[in-house]
This record gives sequence, structure tokens and C-alpha cells, in this order.
Amino acid sequence: MSKNILVTGGAGYIGSHTVLQLLLGGYKVIKMVGIVGISLIIDKLLLVQRGNTLIIKQSYWVVRFDAVIHFAGLKAVGESVEKPLLYYDNNVIGTITLLEVMAAHGCKNLVFSSSATVYGWPKEVPCTEESPLSAVNPYGRTKLFIEEICRDVHHSDPEWKIILLRYFNPVGAHPSGHIGEDPRGIPNNLMPFVQQVAVGRRPALTVFGNDYATKDGTGVRDYIHVVDLADGHIAALRKLSDPKIELAFNPTSYAIIGCEVYNLGTGKGTSVLEMVAAFERASGKKIPLVMAGRRAGDAEIVYASTKKAECELDWRARYGIEEMCRDQWNWASKNPYGYGSPESNGVMK
Ligand code: UDP
Repeated sequence: MSKNILVTGGAGYIGSHTVLQLLLGGYKVIKMVGIVGISLIIDKLLLVQRGNTLIIKQSYWVVRFDAVIHFAGLKAVGESVEKPLLYYDNNVIGTITLLEVMAAHGCKNLVFSSSATVYGWPKEVPCTEESPLSAVNPYGRTKLFIEEICRDVHHSDPEWKIILLRYFNPVGAHPSGHIGEDPRGIPNNLMPFVQQVAVGRRPALTVFGNDYATKDGTGVRDYIHVVDLADGHIAALRKLSDPKIELAFNPTSYAIIGCEVYNLGTGKGTSVLEMVAAFERASGKKIPLVMAGRRAGDAEIVYASTKKAECELDWRARYGIEEMCRDQWNWASKNPYGYGSPESNGVMK
């Protein structure tokens, strides 16, 4: 029997790709479009606004959900430094509200979007789920706090089954070219910026630091195809409905899922210059570079240990950086202004 899944933030970059994979996988999906600034009715859910937080009015929760995937949240690191309360309100209070409503309706299965940002500046790579955690900005702190809140909620009521997914660096787009990433304003992340240079919207990529102790001096990250990442959520949902796990770090023992955390990455580190070269090959475009100093707060080298997700969720990334760049270029060349238009310089009407 197909399952009903509520997806918050279902119109965002990762959310939209996950909704598509869910539908292809036979799930029934109800999508909430973000947590900020919207009042809307989707099906029979009435969403009203309290401050910056959307509430799912309880009397309208008429569909029985088997699980919730909670993507909605703010994610710009720089903005979080300037407006910490906005981030705590939206991300932390928004999640608490969601958890309250879920509990009130007896839906206690949650998949939450955490981030590799909780590893801070890792002393050792690959990052395993046991690596030390630290937050280096308010955005990262909201992810850490929400992880802890989820652990406490499970501890208080073991009926809760929660999977926290720590995303590494999602890039690429759906191979159809119909959906992809379309950030507002100047992109903070590497690949959306590269993409905008390739389509002529920006003159050059600024490379933040070429004096790191890495293969070519530029920062190293674990880039993961957004479709692989989306599939990681399907694997997590499967685990919530079949909660017995063979433990990766103790293969002779089993556990029943409680509140469990998994890295979603490829396990491979790629430098900024390697990523740019791969995108140039995929697009046939030259990406002009401007070398600059390090960006404040940036880690040198971050990549995932994938062992736990492979063993316990039976999931692993299928695509490499060639496919990531191919699919991102396919999306970019079909939609150079994203979901917007040249007149609006990419801003949606
Ligand atoms: N980066 C860069 N120029 C940019 C954006 C990012 O050189 O315009 C570098 C950044 O310093 C880091 C890597 O690209 O080494 C990935 O940055 P991103 O912001 O995408 O991810 P994060 O640093 O959050 O992992």
C-alpha cells in the first residue's frame, strides 16, 4: 500500500528532487512550500502564519501521514550571522512546531535535513557520524540544536523514529533538465556560481583561497548528485518502515531505529579547481577565474565516511562529478535564468 508523506520545503532544491523521486517510487506526497512568509491551502491542509512560523492547523490535518520529511528552513550562512534570531525562529521554532503537530496527530516518523556543517572544521577526514561536532555560525547551530532536540524527543517517547541526514555538498540537477537549483541573488555556493558564469550572467568565478594544504591549494568538498541525495531520503523512509538495522560499526549486533544519524555523501573529496575543470568539460565553456583570499569560516577539506549509510540504509551514491556537471549544465543551458526570466535577471515573478 502506498504511503502518505508530508514534505516541508518541497519546492526547494533538494525538496523538489526528493518529491519527484518519491512520486516515481509510488509514494503519495503532500508538499508544504517552505516555512516562511506563505499562507496557503494545499489539499485540505490549512497553513497559517504565526510570526515567521507556519502552523499546520491541527483540525485540518485530515490526511494520515506515515512520515514527514522536513526540508523547510533558511540556509544562507552569511545571513544567519547577520540575523541569528530569524534563523532560530524559522529553523528551530519551525521544527518544534512541526514536531508538536506531528505528536498531536500520532505521526512520529521523521526524516530531517541536517548538514555536514555540523562537523565544523574537521580535524580528521573522512567525517564519520561519530566525529566531533561543532557549529561555526548560527545556521550550523540551528542544525546542531535540531539534531539534539530530535534526540531528546525520541528519548522522551521511543515511539518516535527519526533519521537525521547530514548532507555534504549537493550539486547537479534532475537529468530531465526541468528542475534544478536556482538561488536568489548572488549564489553563495560554488556550483550555482559556476553555472551563472557559464551562461554569461557573471564574468568570473572568485576562487576563495589557493593556499590550502590540498592537492592544488583550493578547498576540498564531497559533492553529491542531488538525485543520489534524494534517493537517500527514500532509503531513510524504507528504514523507518522496516526499522531493524544491522549496525555498521558492530556487524554482529542489531538495533531498532530510534534517532539515528547518517552522512549522505560520496566519500570522495574534490577541489574547487577539479570541479571547475569537470564543469568546463561538461559545458564546453571556459570559466574565467579570479584568485582571492580564503573565505572567512571555510574549512580546508571535508568529505564523508559513507560506511554507515551503505550498511544500515543500503544506500550509496551512484553518480560522480562528471554526471553532476553534465546534469547541471543540461539544466543551466535549458534554463539560463532558472525559474525566472532575463528581464528579471533570474528572479521569479
Ligand atoms: N568557493 C569558491 N568560490 C565561490 C564559492 C565557493 O571558491 O564563489 C569554494 C569554497 O571556498 C569551498 C568550496 O568552493 O572551498 C565549496 O563552497 P560551498 O559554499 O559551495 O560549500 P561549503 O563551503 O558550504 O561546503
